[in-house]
Amino acid sequence: MQFLHCPKSLWLARHKPEMIPQAAPDLGQELRRDQGYVVEAAIETWLAEVSGDATLDKQVVFELPSGAFARTDVLRRQTDGSVDLIEIKSSHSPSTSHLFDLAFQANLAQALGHQISGLFVAHINGDHTINNGTAPFILNDQTEAVRDLMPDVGRQIPLALEFLDQSQIDESSCTCVTLTRGNHCDSFAYLNPSVPKHSIYTLPGIKAGKIAQYREDGIVDLADVPLDGLSARQAKVVWSAQNQRPFIDREIIQSFVDALEFPLAFYDYEATQSPLPDLPDVNAGMQIPFQFSLHVLQANGRLDHHEYLAQAWQSPGPLIDALRSALPATGSVVSWNKGYENGRNRAMGGLYPQHADFLQDVTDRTVDLQDIFKLGYVDVAFDGRTSIKNVLPVMVPDLTYEGMPVANGTAAMAAFARMITLPQGAERDQLRADMLAYCGLDSFAMVRIYERVLEVLSESAGHQPS
Ligand code: SF4
Repeated sequence: MQFLHCPKSLWLARHKPEMIPQAAPDLGQELRRDQGYVVEAAIETWLAEVSGDATLDKQVVFELPSGAFARTDVLRRQTDGSVDLIEIKSSHSPSTSHLFDLAFQANLAQALGHQISGLFVAHINGDHTINNGTAPFILNDQTEAVRDLMPDVGRQIPLALEFLDQSQIDESSCTCVTLTRGNHCDSFAYLNPSVPKHSIYTLPGIKAGKIAQYREDGIVDLADVPLDGLSARQAKVVWSAQNQRPFIDREIIQSFVDALEFPLAFYDYEATQSPLPDLPDVNAGMQIPFQFSLHVLQANGRLDHHEYLAQAWQSPGPLIDALRSALPATGSVVSWNKGYENGRNRAMGGLYPQHADFLQDVTDRTVDLQDIFKLGYVDVAFDGRTSIKNVLPVMVPDLTYEGMPVANGTAAMAAFARMITLPQGAERDQLRADMLAYCGLDSFAMVRIYERVLEVLSESAGHQPS
């Protein structure tokens, strides 16, 4: 029930959808939607098998004369005339919002005269693999929890309808001004036009309590934030905002660079998951790499590129073999946000013990280039973040992901899902080339950022916050 979460965003979607910034078509969203359909169809089939004499109706609509409208994924009619409402989810457990959705549907179903016997969330069994003999899905009985929510949700329904019927609302601010950036939706800027680009919300790791304190003091712009009482990283972001230049700590950067050992192996994985388990020992949701790009920089400046892209969804043995033959046996391995690459190595090492030592060695040698940008080189232009997508345009403006047909990790997942369904031919070749270009840029961007960092070290006199 979006109304319970945020009435204003619901009102805007109804009355002024043009004011909600529309993200560019997202291949990742399309992939998640398509995978959701696959899971939904599989769970419906499974429900039919485990529901005995009950009959299942799909996508049943409940609509009251007041205009309140809900759609339930599955209405299971028991032989005694009562019904179960079943929400189907691609998750591995029910969430609070799933329970609120069920409470909303149950209120309407009850008002229309249905006698409800059970309220369920049907979801993936996260422990299931194709070879461990467990059930693929779980019919999670949430009847009691949802019944507890129903009175409150029922009271909100007329309020929601009344709110939505208004022709005008206060659009000068919204309640998320008291919350951290992770809670803001796409309408935040429209509803809070007085919040500047570099604001207290862009301070990394800021808590809601601190936001409340700043607001009480009338502070929203980073330019007005006092340096005392901040974490080291926050202080550097504020210093950068107030001095309109990056904060550079030569000592931190130098010690990172000094710890590197040549050859430097800059590498990046692209990984994905199948909506339903289909590889031995791999459960739903386990991300398995299908692609890597590796740039190897020698001490003499020579740069070599190696890459691998699977032709099918398969166990990653061939990818690991390709990495083993391309990766230097010594030297530092460099990734960006190393927890991701290390996590994939751990997962693959657990699945394939014959590769475990090699993958552990890669992990042990891996350093995170992103770390430089947490405390060593902090620029307010990174917008309080350290993702490579935020850092690259500032550090190496001539290199960009903009305009690439595949331009982020979720798009790469979607492109791979599509590519493996295509027959050999021009379309498949083009998609493959787009994917190689994207992953190649990820590792090449690290090389260029590293080189830029060396330039900074040689040119900077260093800046410290006063
Ligand atoms: S930013 Fe928060 S309060 Fe504002 S419209 Fe979005 S969800 Fe609602």
